[in-house]
Amino acid sequence: MTAAEGLPPLRAVIEAHGLAPKKSLGQNFLLDLNLTGRIARQALPLDRATVVEVGPGPGGLTRALLAEGAKKVVAIEKDPRCIAALEEIAAHHPGRLEIVSADALTIDLAALSGGQPVKIVANLPYNVGTQLLLNWLTSTAWPPVWESLTLMFQKEVAERIVAAPGTDHYGRLSVLAGWRSRAKILFDVSPSAFTPPPKVTSSIVQLVPRESPEPAALDKLEKVTAAAFGQRRKMLRQSLKSLGGEALLTSVGIDPQRRAETLSVSEFVRLANAV
Ligand code: SAM
Repeated sequence: MTAAEGLPPLRAVIEAHGLAPKKSLGQNFLLDLNLTGRIARQALPLDRATVVEVGPGPGGLTRALLAEGAKKVVAIEKDPRCIAALEEIAAHHPGRLEIVSADALTIDLAALSGGQPVKIVANLPYNVGTQLLLNWLTSTAWPPVWESLTLMFQKEVAERIVAAPGTDHYGRLSVLAGWRSRAKILFDVSPSAFTPPPKVTSSIVQLVPRESPEPAALDKLEKVTAAAFGQRRKMLRQSLKSLGGEALLTSVGIDPQRRAETLSVSEFVRLANAV
């Protein structure tokens, strides 16, 4: 037992519950409670919104969120093997941890929180991380039910989320994230921090929704960015040919010879509104 919280060490929890990490579920666990504490503190204060954790696994980050003062954590876990381990944490913090045994891709956040604000904090499974982020960024209701997202991604994905125009990583994900949120990388986490270690470095990214993103129809913005970045080395008059090409670009004052990666988020919004 650790003196700090009276729960067994995470290695013992993994052993006791037979939680051998499964690659198919993106299971790379964090067993260092100093690190999980540091991640949880990025989302402070934790007592004014429900904290939603996706993929708690054996519960290292869950414990940290509770220790850092979360009034209520809702933890969504797809792997049924983890539920009993999480119930031990719930028993230790009566009324503060709700465990949802489900696939996070199918969860309606607003329904889950009864429309109350949530903060999402997660060491995401890499195989579904980008899709989850896209789901949260494309919420029909805006501002969305989430107040902040504090998420672990592979560093390369984190760089795509926060990339600025004119940089190599700038693409569809950057435009969508930049349109609807302010996103930044907080710190990197080395592979050796995980059990088992993944092949690449990870990064913690934080996104805060913009109150009033520039008005644009999401489906049109997605269509324009998909076409533009689908042929990112080509001039826009070529890559956007099927959407109006040169005429479309000149109608909104964008030089048809430019390439996708040079356009700001506002310029993509202008194009989407003209399509
Ligand atoms: N939070 C734990 C930690 O930091 O040690 C575990 C993180 S591990 C990278 C990802 C977790 O997400 C695993 O526990 C895995 O079972 C779970 N998971 C994978 N796919 C999921 C899904 N679609 N919905 C909910 N949980 C999922």
